Amino acid sequence: MRILCPLCGLRDRREFYVSGAAVRIGRPAPGEGPEAMDDYLHLRTNPEGPLDEFWQHEQGCRAWLIVTRDTGTHEVLGVRLAQDIAGGDDAA
Ligand SMILES: [Zn+2]
Repeated sequence: MRILCPLCGLRDRREFYVSGAAVRIGRPAPGEGPEAMDDYLHLRTNPEGPLDEFWQHEQGCRAWLIVTRDTGTHEVLGVRLAQDIAGGDDAA
């Protein structure tokens, strides 16, 4: 599998560190108790289909990316810089 890093170009998947889903669904509301928060932090859903994930180009530019990957086929559907989503460091 190859990932198209927006800064480095097409690279082998082994150059990247995968952190997991970029968005966690179901964050408990305040007051739901420690069990709900424990489940949120430690139990992961494993959806089949397109999923946004945090990937770091660890052996390249070290940028954090949002990779949209089909978890059923492993097809990469899109790659963008995570800083573009979070607003980056432009405020500094
Ligand atoms: Zn890169």
